[in-house]
Amino acid sequence: MTGRNRVKVGMIFDIKRFAVHDGPGIRTTVFLKGCPLRCLWCHNPEGISRRPQLVFTPQRCIGCGRCLDLCPQGVHSFVDNRHLIEWERCLGCGICVEECYSEALRIAGREVSVEEVMDEVLSDRPFYETSGGGMTLSGGEPLAQPRFALALLQAAKGEGIHTALDTSGFAPWEHLEELLPYTDLVLYDLKHMDDGRHMALTGVSNGQILENLRRLDGVGKRIWVRIPLVPGYNDEDSNYHALGRFLSDLKNVEKIQILTYHKLAESKYESIGQRYPLKGLEPPAKEWAESRKRILLDYGLSQTVIE
Ligand code: SF4
Ligand code: SF4
Repeated sequence: MTGRNRVKVGMIFDIKRFAVHDGPGIRTTVFLKGCPLRCLWCHNPEGISRRPQLVFTPQRCIGCGRCLDLCPQGVHSFVDNRHLIEWERCLGCGICVEECYSEALRIAGREVSVEEVMDEVLSDRPFYETSGGGMTLSGGEPLAQPRFALALLQAAKGEGIHTALDTSGFAPWEHLEELLPYTDLVLYDLKHMDDGRHMALTGVSNGQILENLRRLDGVGKRIWVRIPLVPGYNDEDSNYHALGRFLSDLKNVEKIQILTYHKLAESKYESIGQRYPLKGLEPPAKEWAESRKRILLDYGLSQTVIE
């Protein structure tokens, strides 16, 4: 690849330091903004749109009214002492955010250069060295910004830092393949084995996702498969048996993580003016998660863990 093709600026919505659930050791996770999937249980709804978005935390609002005066779109209003937001009118320009001193308003999404990201990533190098950690690209979907993802991974490897890519696998194989020389570990999501159910739950087919995982395994890349366990949506026996059959054919899956559903994302939806599709859904019982794990163990997948 030539330097001309390399994108040095991308859109992110967060950088999380001291992350311990995004690969081995202590890591810095960079969340790239934009995702082609629409998973009903998405835990990062502010990462779906590629554009910057207003985020409002009502508990922090002191009712000063500055945002009403500043917004050129007339998005903010107060009715009966309640701060109302007309989300569909908001352009995400950030003008109101600058004068909200209580930080009730913020923008999720900013353009950053590779150098800016790497400055943050490198500041925790000693922690990576002592814990076996490194940098993880997550999202959103990192493969939705393939040039920027490539530039970040190249920069990290150039500094000798361990790299992980957290992906849905929904992208052309060529995009994934191009990142592999600079990726030590792939964290690969599997949401449902039945194509129709996958389409209903995520908005896209699983055909390309399964094919990419087979190819990834075929080239010998280190893989951790991650399976969200969402009660009533993808936890049925038939799905776990299909997962067991599929995964037991692969050779390079070091770990299978069953990620139990939790409700922490609910308030995130409200804060960006969206309705949470799974409102009221309770996390699975521990015994139920164990029973899902046992199905995979019966296929010889002893690397399965619940997290
Ligand atoms: S500027 Fe911030 S604190 Fe003031 S009314 Fe607007 S959201 Fe509330
Ligand atoms: S981000 Fe811009 S358009 Fe949206 S509410 Fe604030 S000032 Fe108005």
